[in-house]
Order: sequence, then C-alpha cells, then structure tokens
Amino acid sequence: MKILLLGKSGQVGWELQRSLASLGELVALDRHPVDGLCGDLSDLDTLRTTIRTVRPDVIVNAAAYTAVDKAESETDLADRVNAQASQVMAEEVAMVGGWLIHYSTDYVFSGQGDRPWQESDDVAPVNHYGASKLAGEQAIMASGCKYLIFRTSWVFGARGNNFAKTMMRLAKDRETLNVIADQIGAPTGADLIADVTALAIQQVLKRPELAGLYHLAAAGEVSWHGYASHVIDFAKAQGEELAVTAVNPIDTTAYPTPARRPLNSRLNTQKLRDNFSLHLPDWQSGVTRMLREVLNK
Ligand code: NDP
Repeated sequence: MKILLLGKSGQVGWELQRSLASLGELVALDRHPVDGLCGDLSDLDTLRTTIRTVRPDVIVNAAAYTAVDKAESETDLADRVNAQASQVMAEEVAMVGGWLIHYSTDYVFSGQGDRPWQESDDVAPVNHYGASKLAGEQAIMASGCKYLIFRTSWVFGARGNNFAKTMMRLAKDRETLNVIADQIGAPTGADLIADVTALAIQQVLKRPELAGLYHLAAAGEVSWHGYASHVIDFAKAQGEELAVTAVNPIDTTAYPTPARRPLNSRLNTQKLRDNFSLHLPDWQSGVTRMLREVLNK
C-alpha cells in the first residue's frame, strides 16, 4: 500500500509520520518541493500533478490553513487550502478508487448550547476558518470518493508551540494570568489523533462500510482556564519555579479577537468509539504526558 501524507510538518502531520510508517510505503510532503513533488495546497495544479505522480492508494491530508484569526482577512487563501485543495485530492482518489483521510474541526458548529456535538448536528460556522473547513468537508463528501473525515478540537503536540507551553512561559514572568473560562472543549493530543488514524485506516480497508465522518477528541471536558490551571498546578508540583500566584477566569467578551470563537467545542465521539471499538483516554492523560516531555520529568 502506498500512502501520500500531506502536511508532514504540522502537529498532526509530524505524529502521522510515525504512526503511518508501518502501514506501507509512505511519501510524506510539506509545502516545499522535493524530487519533483510538492505538497503546497495553495498551488492546485501542482498538487494534482504530484498526486498523479505518486499514485497513492491512500491520501492522508494533515495540511490546512489553521491561522484562525488571519483567515478572516486571507479568505481566498484559506478557501483554496482548506476547501479547493481538498476537492482536488478527493477527485484524484475517486478516479483510482483510493481513500482520502482528512481532518476537520468543531468550528463547523455554532458553538451554542452545552451538549456535545454529534456528526449529524446542523452546522453553522461562526468564523471564516470554520466555513472554509466546512466547504472542504462538503467537497469531499460530494466527490464520491471513499473517505474518513475526523473532526477534532483543541489540538496540541509536544513539538512546536502549544497552549500549555505558552501558559508555562507566561507563568514564569507574571504573577497573574487571565484565561478564558467560558469556552469548553477537550485538549486532544496530535499523537492520539495520529494513532487513531492509523488504526482506522487498517480497519476501513477491510470494512469499507465504515467510511464516513467522525468526531475524534480526548474524553472529558474543560475550559481554557481549567486547562491552564491544570498545567500550572502540574508544573508547580514538579518543582518548576513560577511567578504566578493567581489564574483568573475571564469571559470570551473580555478578550476580543478578529475571528469569533465557539463557546461549545464539545464533541460526541460515540460513533467513532463504537464503529472502531476504540477507547479514547481522558484529556488529562495526554496533557500530562506532553508536560512530562516538555518539563523533562
Ligand atoms: P498545524 O497548524 O500544526 O499544521 C498545519 C500544517 O499545514 C502546517 O505544517 C502548515 O505548514 C501546513 N500548511 C499550511 N498551509 C499550507 C499550504 N498552502 N500547503 C501545504 N501545507 C500547508 O495544524 P494541526 O496539525 O493542528 O491540524 C491538523 C488538522 O486538524 C487540520 O486539518 C486542522 O484544521 C485540524 N484541526 C486543528 C485544530 C487545532 O487546534 N490545531 C483543532 C481542530 C481541527 P507551515 O507550517 O509551513 O505553514
């Protein structure tokens, strides 16, 4: 089996390089050209040519325009990368009977209420990033290709920047931190997403009827404020020297951003757990493992 991984250097893409390696021949690309291949999703013709050259059985697309605030002004680029490029991938795999594995977001929903979103719930994105990701989902579903789409939320990876690292950095210098307490979700490790992806690919190749749209997030729920408090308590317990003495809860309205954020990012993962016989660990276990790695404890 030949797998084409796009977005190999992102949080999820980096972990997928590890989790997909044992499944078959892996061609992993980012936006930079190598050996005549290029995974730049903003260049649709080159993307199509690259897919035709590689001739993969499975495309795993971890690349995306993820700058949520910038997407409000760079709408064309966000649409090309998140929607039109997904359509190109879907068309190409449909022609050869291959699979497209793709990621989307809870930002396709309105963020209202406090019930965890199900795959069948109505969509109503509150910002352009969410709208562009939704357009990508819809293009894939309309293409007739075989697909798995995983909607996830609040992704963190041990590599690069993440919310927990930012909180620890700020907590070293500041006595007080103000953190949003009315947005609720589940921090989900890029490594968990990659491992579930690899398991799901193996199962869906044997049982194609499992194709479809799934919600994938760690178990449990927390606010950004609760997440920050967990990180800081853990770091203190591990002996980190922090200046912070108070982590204050604030409302989203006290922290204006160019793009609106949904308040309810809870995802109901029942369908994924049932169809693939999976257990999803609680968010604390993934965050704690990442913190141990970051703090070298
Ligand atoms: P990252 O931002 O870590 O990675 C995205 C990758 O896409 C980066 O490596 C980036 O490359 C690449 N990329 C951006 N533009 C292009 C382009 N034009 N051509 C090729 N590559 C490009 O995101 P995640 O790994 O966290 O996200 C994985 C998936 O999960 C995405 O589909 C995202 O929408 C979804 N998701 C993410 C969430 C999150 O909290 N991060 C929440 C919900 C869903 P470069 O670094 O060069 O810009």
